Amino acid sequence: MIKLHDLYFKPFISEQEVDAIVQNMVDDIAKDMQDDIPVFVGILNGSFMFVSDFVKKYPKPCEVTFIKLASYEGLKSTEDIHRLIGLTQDLSGRKVVILEDIIDSGKTLEEVHRIFLNEGVDELKIATLFYKPEAYKKDYKLHYVGKEIPDKFIVGYGLDYDGLGRDIPAIYQLKTTQHMTNLVLFGPPGAGKGTQANFLKETYNLIHISTGDVFRFNIKNETALGMLAKSYMDKGELVPDQVTIDMLNAEVEKNADANGFIFDGFPRTNAQAEALDKLMNSKDSQINAMIALEVDDEVLVERLLERGKTSGRKDDADESIIRNRITEYYNKTAILKDYYTAQDKYFGVDGVGSISEITERLNAVIDKL
Ligand code: AMP
Repeated sequence: MIKLHDLYFKPFISEQEVDAIVQNMVDDIAKDMQDDIPVFVGILNGSFMFVSDFVKKYPKPCEVTFIKLASYEGLKSTEDIHRLIGLTQDLSGRKVVILEDIIDSGKTLEEVHRIFLNEGVDELKIATLFYKPEAYKKDYKLHYVGKEIPDKFIVGYGLDYDGLGRDIPAIYQLKTTQHMTNLVLFGPPGAGKGTQANFLKETYNLIHISTGDVFRFNIKNETALGMLAKSYMDKGELVPDQVTIDMLNAEVEKNADANGFIFDGFPRTNAQAEALDKLMNSKDSQINAMIALEVDDEVLVERLLERGKTSGRKDDADESIIRNRITEYYNKTAILKDYYTAQDKYFGVDGVGSISEITERLNAVIDKL
């Protein structure tokens, strides 16, 4: 993610993809031009990078010139379009290809057509790297379109937001949703995730989603999901990924306006972690941290057996099921430490001590994020 002035932008089209799009346009146009020497007319400022890359790739002789028209002020296409600057050469009888970085409302294009009306060119073709069909309000034909994109503000590769961002080699898209704080509370069964999540959600105004709790709620209500999950949970095994991922997605969707989430008991596998990244990405957001409560195995077994006396949870009542849950954790879940460490998002916290001591340790980590 990048910040330009007051706004955040997320990666949208990579440098490699832009390069491939430009190459495709070059191939199409070169084929259509046959033996003619075209004049490529770039529209400044936005098209400078596109035109430069385009003509470097163009395999045959060509001429290049620029005209300047500005239609952007800040984020919106403004009503008044500045007049043409720079068309000094005689283009009569020539094949002219306009190279635009982006066409949205089509106002700039209208001005281009007006300007070329009396130039006596043999052929005027329009080529645009990006095209926003939802925003386009005109009828002028677009002869070559690099890529159609949604009607969202983009920067990079020549395109700017209030002067910034033109120099970035890839395309970034404006982040439109509010900033969220999303935490993964991590640790083996009995580490105290649920207890601590209850404090954290109050302090930071976050939605707490415990996949174990959602499964238990479904079991209690005898839903199909509950019946399916029960067979795994009773043995201390993990519920299959796709079932869990679908359920988690639905829980997040129920809280579309959340300030952020505490995920407790999820993700538990690499597939779940990847699904969670995808989900956060679709919300223009991300996981900010995985905070792990670190507790010794024997302490866990003791705690869970103690909890089993009152929790009514079948999987807390039997030591062999408890040990199986801990084994599942080390076999399938503990690897997620590497997943988040690789992104510099893993924070280990000592999970032994009084509840309030541990809460303070967690708060200290979150406050620094
Ligand atoms: P918990 O309440 O987090 O200890 O979870 C209790 C049980 O619910 C686990 O032993 C699993 O059977 C199931 N479960 C909870 N979360 C997940 C998950 N993310 N993936 C698979 N199974 C889960």
